Amino acid sequence: MSSLKNGLTGVLHDFTGLFYPNLCIGCGKILRRNEKQLCLNCLMQLPLTNYHLIDENTIEKRFYGKAEVQCATTFLYFEKEIVTQKLLHAIKYRGQKELGEQMGTLFGLQLKNSRFDKIDAIIPVPLHPNKFKVRGYNQSEWIAKGMALTMMKPLISNVLKRIVENPTQTKKGVFERWENTAGIFESENTELIENKHLLLVDDVLTTGATLEACIIPLQKIKGVKISIAALATVI
Ligand SMILES: [Zn+2]
Repeated sequence: MSSLKNGLTGVLHDFTGLFYPNLCIGCGKILRRNEKQLCLNCLMQLPLTNYHLIDENTIEKRFYGKAEVQCATTFLYFEKEIVTQKLLHAIKYRGQKELGEQMGTLFGLQLKNSRFDKIDAIIPVPLHPNKFKVRGYNQSEWIAKGMALTMMKPLISNVLKRIVENPTQTKKGVFERWENTAGIFESENTELIENKHLLLVDDVLTTGATLEACIIPLQKIKGVKISIAALATVI
């Protein structure tokens, strides 16, 4: 019965595909029946950073002297990598949250059985409620959802909240930037994460200022350790 159902689903896929072909986000070619959002060729050519394999990698160094971070990595290179830009754009601005989850499952598979496997729980970087209302979803939460699935770790979305919508950007130096990042995020239900090693998940990591701002309230909680994973990075 289930093979009949699968067969029918396949026929239906092919039939609707005649009118509305599903195209690969990376190269624009028509997707095959077993491909989802990205064709196999684009999937195989994703610009992986593999930073999870490198101790004291460039992402970890970005937090030196700013925040205590156990391990940090990003899945993909962003700059000049058209496929990453298209992926992130679709996930963030074109409502394709499931693509975020799909990329998250791949990222999680990569981190499973690496030094990141010692984390206890996954926390997505939250959006400000106003932004959430406009977008309808938090893209980092969907990435984190996929990661939680393949890393087999719990996803905790109710301990960190964003209370300041847009921090004033300043070019006046590190100290003032630090002053600005303090107070953007707040923690609640902290008993859920006491003595836990948390993996903070974001979509794109540039200077790391947003993640630093998340770490400020979290590191005040008893016994908390923090690691970081972002889907893409700008080097
Ligand atoms: Zn493709």
